[in-house]
Amino acid sequence: MNDRSAGLQEAIDSFPLVSWLSKHTRTYPNEGGAVVYADCPVCTGRKKLGIYRSKKLAVCGRCKDGGHGQGKWEGVANLPRLVKMLEGTSWRDTFKLIHALSGIPEPEWKPEEAPDVSIPKDAISLTSCHEEEPGVSYLRTRGVGHLVESASLCIGGKYHERVILPCYYRDEYIGFEAKAIYPSQTPKSLYPPGMATRKKVYTLRDWRQKATWAAVTESVVDCETFSPIGNAIGCFGVFKRGQLASLVELDQIKDLYWFLDGDAWKHVQSGIKACAPFVRNHVVPMPNDQDPNSLGTEGCGLLMESAREVRTDLDFLEVTHEWGKDL
Ligand SMILES: [Zn+2]
Repeated sequence: MNDRSAGLQEAIDSFPLVSWLSKHTRTYPNEGGAVVYADCPVCTGRKKLGIYRSKKLAVCGRCKDGGHGQGKWEGVANLPRLVKMLEGTSWRDTFKLIHALSGIPEPEWKPEEAPDVSIPKDAISLTSCHEEEPGVSYLRTRGVGHLVESASLCIGGKYHERVILPCYYRDEYIGFEAKAIYPSQTPKSLYPPGMATRKKVYTLRDWRQKATWAAVTESVVDCETFSPIGNAIGCFGVFKRGQLASLVELDQIKDLYWFLDGDAWKHVQSGIKACAPFVRNHVVPMPNDQDPNSLGTEGCGLLMESAREVRTDLDFLEVTHEWGKDL
């Protein structure tokens, strides 16, 4: 038993592959070999499943041919995906199980006193404001008029003349973004002290429980730009590693489309690297001086048509080169 807590990757590296897999199917351990063979628990193909010991990458030759995976997988999965599939667990429980079986405790989570992230007292509801009020017209001209209903305008204090956009992670209230409405205001976005902007992500107000894809964006307004066409997530800036757990706990999401601002390409790369064990990742050719909101809903929809799936570093570098992006 290792007494040191560590990240998921170390737990994967130490995972007792053969003993775990033996609980689900017949294995052919092939002591010392690079690959552990097994009968595929999905298609039942004899010795068709091979798992590379070093990378813990599972491949079933038969499922990969198509039509044999019973809709459960396409015949290729990394360890977290394989464990999730065979155990039928949520991502959260999959994390826990990998750590438990590896004997590597999860990084300790210390509860902190909940900070006050409630809506500022000096904010008035935008529904009580005139249509020409700058806060209202700000949201309407940006194509996110549906937010007027839940937003408010600060008329004093730290967030004076900013639109207050309440933030939710699914049904859980997590704080707010205080968005500048005049070009002269900096920074563009403020968040209440103590809001978990490095751990939580924003989910679209009209979050669709059943959609299997989501766009990854930076701000609330960028995220809500997707409201008419699909699910989206806002990362309160670029994606941070600490947000991974919030993201993968959105269990039904299988595909992510990276819509960070056009000048954040290297953050797209690191985001994809972090998320690759859990979801399929796709990139879009966001122009360098644009973001999802400046492109608009329709523009984002068009950009999705040029999306490219990225599985490896090499895929990413190829697209980078082809689209003339800077890293
Ligand atoms: Zn199979």
